[in-house]
Amino acid sequence: MKKSLAILGSTGSVGSQVLDIVEKFPENFEVLLLSASKVSEKLLKQIEKFKPKYVYLKNPSKIDGVNVLSGKEGIIETIHIEADLFINAVSGIDGVEFTYYLLKNNKTLATANKEAIVCLGEILGDKFKEIIPLDSEHSAIYQTLENIKSEYVENIYLTSSGGPFLNKDFSEFKNITVEEALNHPKWSMGKKITIDSATLLNKGLEVIEAHYLFNISYDNLKVVIHPQSIIHGLVELTDGNICAHLSDTDMRFPISYALFYPERKDVGLKKLNLFELRKLEFFEPDTKKFPLLKVAIEAGKQGEAYPIILTVADEIAVHKFLEGKIGFLDIYKIIEETLNKAKFEKPKTLEDVLDIIEKTKEIAGGIAC
Ligand code: MG
Repeated sequence: MKKSLAILGSTGSVGSQVLDIVEKFPENFEVLLLSASKVSEKLLKQIEKFKPKYVYLKNPSKIDGVNVLSGKEGIIETIHIEADLFINAVSGIDGVEFTYYLLKNNKTLATANKEAIVCLGEILGDKFKEIIPLDSEHSAIYQTLENIKSEYVENIYLTSSGGPFLNKDFSEFKNITVEEALNHPKWSMGKKITIDSATLLNKGLEVIEAHYLFNISYDNLKVVIHPQSIIHGLVELTDGNICAHLSDTDMRFPISYALFYPERKDVGLKKLNLFELRKLEFFEPDTKKFPLLKVAIEAGKQGEAYPIILTVADEIAVHKFLEGKIGFLDIYKIIEETLNKAKFEKPKTLEDVLDIIEKTKEIAGGIAC
């Protein structure tokens, strides 16, 4: 029987790679819904090829031959579609409401949208164990944990390539251009996450994501710089054994794992040749050069509204940087100042989370650089 899919954020990097695999296996999948922020040539091509019954658009417009859903009502209609698997590949905080309602309604969810997990962690904690992660490190750890009893898990290590500026002198950081920051040495990803990977804030968000997904304390979550990006995650057990997960650096590994779960399928990706791997290196992250890694983990530890403030401030700052309005180091400034300025009660409901998001956007948007 075919697995029916609802793909949120289908025109983004992860969404497009999901559809690449779906296209190769028409006997395994059918696409019920696609979503994007707005109509684009790319979306129209996807609609023509995959013939979804529904399309969710953040900015509504008419499309011939499909039911267009939009707005809050559209989110509720979307999550009630009878899809076997929902994929949240939305970039940034736009994915928060989808993740909330999908989990509340016990839908099967594979998600690459770490911002939603980080923002909803305090109000949805116990729901996260149902998620199949699409983030490569979290997929690696999820796969490693498949055969390990949770009581034997001591530490979880998330690896980071170190990004494009691992070996750049900090004195040159102020002159980093958008183009340089978008030039990631290992991973091909969307713009927002690529900038987050250049500041290492992405790894901080991933630590928070891992804390909520795997229900593990921050003291037992470690970040290790591994420039080759071959090992994606490691689990250290209570007896000192360490299990590692290796694969080529290609997002379609975690994507195909999630698509075919609980089965596995060879989708034709490049397999690792161990004899070509001359060296695998591991370093401690330099938090003087990349303070946002530490700032993010601290925000995670503080909990309450801080993970949301961090996520929103970062999104505002990264968009300003991408638009050429601020410099690379101003991203640091906006995030740190917003975290100092914004004061909110601990969120208890989705409305609280959305309210904190809106107010933080204003605060972060108002910081002069
Ligand atoms: Mg990742």
